[in-house]
Amino acid sequence: ETQKETLGFQTEVKQLLNLMIHSLYSNKEIFLRELISNASDAAEKLRFKALSNGALYENDGDLKVTVSFDPEAKTVTIEDNGVGMSRDDVVEHLGTIAKSGTASFLGQLTGDQAQDNQLIGQFGVGFYSAFIVAEKVDVFSRAAGAPVSEGVHWSSAGEGEFSIATIDKETRGTQIVLHLKEGEEEFADGSRLRTLVRKYSDHIAMPVMMLKEAPLGMEEESEEPVEGEEAKAAKEPKEVAAPELETVNSATALWTLNKSDISEEEYSEFYKHISHDFGNPLTVGHNRVEGNLEYTSLLYVPETAPYDLWNRDAPRGLKLYIQRVFVMDQADQFLPLYLRFIKGVVDSNNLSLNVSREILQKDPNVDKLRTALTKRVLDMLTKLAKNEPEKYVTFWKSFGSVMKEGPAEDYTNREKIMKLLRFASTHTDSSEPTTSLDDYIGRMKEGQTKIYYVVAENYNTAKNSPHLEIFRKKGIEVLLMTERVDEWMMSHLFDYDGKSLQNVTKGELELGETETEEDKKAQEEAAKEAEGLVERLKERLKEKVSDVRVTHRLTESPACLVLNAYDMGAQMRQIMEAAGQ
Ligand code: ADP
Ligand code: MG
Repeated sequence: ETQKETLGFQTEVKQLLNLMIHSLYSNKEIFLRELISNASDAAEKLRFKALSNGALYENDGDLKVTVSFDPEAKTVTIEDNGVGMSRDDVVEHLGTIAKSGTASFLGQLTGDQAQDNQLIGQFGVGFYSAFIVAEKVDVFSRAAGAPVSEGVHWSSAGEGEFSIATIDKETRGTQIVLHLKEGEEEFADGSRLRTLVRKYSDHIAMPVMMLKEAPLGMEEESEEPVEGEEAKAAKEPKEVAAPELETVNSATALWTLNKSDISEEEYSEFYKHISHDFGNPLTVGHNRVEGNLEYTSLLYVPETAPYDLWNRDAPRGLKLYIQRVFVMDQADQFLPLYLRFIKGVVDSNNLSLNVSREILQKDPNVDKLRTALTKRVLDMLTKLAKNEPEKYVTFWKSFGSVMKEGPAEDYTNREKIMKLLRFASTHTDSSEPTTSLDDYIGRMKEGQTKIYYVVAENYNTAKNSPHLEIFRKKGIEVLLMTERVDEWMMSHLFDYDGKSLQNVTKGELELGETETEEDKKAQEEAAKEAEGLVERLKERLKEKVSDVRVTHRLTESPACLVLNAYDMGAQMRQIMEAAGQ
C-alpha cells in the first residue's frame, strides 16, 4: 500500500452512522440488500459505458455480483466487476453524504426510536448500513479502464475516520469485505446468505453468484472411490477440484416479467431496491405497451413523503432503461414536477442507446413517453381512489399538497387532476381531507349552481368563519381549504363539471335558486332599514374599506370583511408580503 492517509468522515456521516447503527438494528439484514444493490448498479453502469467504449470490459464482459463468506475469519464479502471507483470517487462517495438537505434531515431526528427509524429508513443509508453488522469494513476498488496500479483500499471501523491507500488491483470493480461484529457471525453462513439474496435481491438485473454448496454425503463417498469412478474423476478434474459458482437469484429484471408471475412481495422488494425506502409502496402500476411507442413502465406510489419533498434540488425521476440496458438514474424528463414523488423504471425501445441528458431533452419520443406516463400515473391514482379509498386518503395526506400544483402545471390533465383533489368540508365535521369535487356535486342543493369554498389559515378558522353562517342556515356545503397552496391553486381554477367555483369570502353572494321569494323580500326590507347606518359606516371607515354593504350572508355575527371578486385573497397577500412584494 502506498500514499496511505487517514481522513475524517464529514460530520453528517458521523452522526448518521451513530444513529443508524442503533435505530436500524432490528432491520440489520438489509445491509446485504444495500451492498448488492450498489454492486448491481455499478455493473449496470459499466454496461452502459461500455456501449461506447468496449475496452472498459478488459476482456471480461460477464457482469455479475459475487457473495462469499468465511466463518473462521468471520467475514462476508460482496464483489462486483462493475465500473469501480477511483481514489477520488471513494473519498467522495464513502466519506461524505452527497444527498441534499442531509443536515436539516438530521435536525429533524427526535431521539424517539420508532420515529427516527422511520425517518432514517426514508433517507436511505446505503453503503453505511454495512456498519450495522461490521466492526470494520474494507473496500478494494479499481475503476474500469484504469491501470492495475490505480487500485484503492478504503478501510474504516465506522468511528469518525477512514484510511485510504493506493494499491495494485488486478480486476476492475469493487470488493467489500465486512468483518462481522461479535454476535453477528450468523451472517457468515451459506444458507443464511442465500435466503437473504433471494428475499431481497431476487429480481435485480444482475446475477448474484455464490459458491455451490457441496451436496450432502459427497465427502464420505469420495474418500473411498470405487475404481471406475476414480478414473472418471481424473478425466474431469474440474468437477471435484474447482469450486463452482452458481446463480442464486432469478436475475431477471422484474419489469420484464409478466404481471401474473409477480407477487406483491417481489414488487415491494424491487421498490426498496430502486427507492432506498424501507417501507412498502402504497400502490404499483406495471404496464407493457407495444406499437408505435414501445415501453414498459413500473411505477410506484410511496406511502410516506420523503423528508426532502419540498427541496428543489432533491433527486427525482425514474430509472431509465433503453432496450433493457440501464442508462440513467433520476431521469426527470418523464414526469411533470407535480408527480415528482413517483418512483420507478421506464424501459423504452424508442430511444437510442446513444443518449445523454441533453439529447433526451430534444427527443420527441421523450415528450410522448412523458404524456403516456403522466396518464398512467393519473389513472393509477384514479383507480386507487375508487377501489381503495382509505389508502387514497393516506396518499393524499402524504402528497396532496404536491398534487395541488397539478392543475396549473398540467393544463391538459386538469379535469383528471381535479377529480383527484380532496378537501375537508362542512359536510363531514372533520379536518380529514376526504371530500372530492364529485362528492360535493352529488350533495348539491336543488337549484345550487356553484361549488362554494372558503380559504383560511387552518381548519378551525375555516370552520368558524362568519362567512359560513348563511350556508349553514341553508344547509349548503362549503369546502374548507387550509393549505398554503390552496389559494394559489384556486386562482387557476374557475369551474369543474360546468359548475363555477366560488370563494365565499369574495364579492356578492348569489345563492341561486336556493333563495325563495320571501327571502328576497325580507332582504330588501332589511337593506332599506339599514340605509342610514350604512352611510354612517361608510363615512367612518372610508380610509379602511372600499365599500360597506348590507349582507344576508351572516346569521349571527353582526359584520364581516369581504374581498372584492378580483382581490387577492388573504393567504396570497401574506405570501406576496413575505416575498417582499
Ligand atoms: P446510493 O446507492 O443511494 O447512491 P450508497 O450509500 O449506497 O448510496 O452509495 C453511495 C455511492 O457510492 C454510490 O452512489 C456509488 O457512487 C458509490 N458506490 C457504492 N458502492 C459501489 C460499488 N460497488 N461500485 C461502484 N460504486 C459504488
Ligand atoms: Mg445504494
